[in-house]
Amino acid sequence: MRLILLGPPGAGKGTQAQRLVRKFDIPQLSTGDMLRAAVAAGTPIGLKAKAVMDSGSLVSDGIVIGIINDRISEPDAKNGFILDGFPRTLAQARELEAMLVEKGLKLDAAIELTVDAAKLVDRIVNRAAEAKAAGLPVRKDDDPDVFKSRLAAYERDTAAVTPFYRERGLLREVDGMASIDEVAAGIDNVLDEVATP
Ligand code: AMP
Repeated sequence: MRLILLGPPGAGKGTQAQRLVRKFDIPQLSTGDMLRAAVAAGTPIGLKAKAVMDSGSLVSDGIVIGIINDRISEPDAKNGFILDGFPRTLAQARELEAMLVEKGLKLDAAIELTVDAAKLVDRIVNRAAEAKAAGLPVRKDDDPDVFKSRLAAYERDTAAVTPFYRERGLLREVDGMASIDEVAAGIDNVLDEVATP
């Protein structure tokens, strides 16, 4: 099973990806996690990526494409993988397509967890207010302004990516505002559908 999971922060991508990892015994390949690990380890890629990541911009296509190319060739990705946070640009989507063709691999689906941005912001604002009222620290990611800018960045970055997969008949939308179990069922339906010859 080779999947791309698309969706803004707060859509529940992490929860669903973890479930799919267990279900199919395939790795979740998050470029954000890999870049953070490279920064922490002080590798040449990490050193290049750090300032860009700190500024909230995108790391160069060449760097992330190189990381993914190496990673999907590793033994644990032989039976499939879930891409998370990649591709973020049209160039990355095109390179991934070429990479998979070269390796003789096929993508099964690009699943987008769709959200109502206004409702998602309300949810975060409430969560931040509740934490504050309880005297708890507000997580940086739950700061409404930080959250809004991450949401805007996601919409800007992926604007060109979803049409790319739609044109290829690979895009599947699942309502990310539903409950965790309902989203899981929606994803499983999509996977049953794409697995049918
Ligand atoms: P994330 O954890 O997916 O939000 O990624 C954290 C940061 O890593 C992003 O803000 C980017 O700077 C960088 N990053 C992660 N994935 C990519 C990607 N596919 N292309 C470019 N930059 C990325």
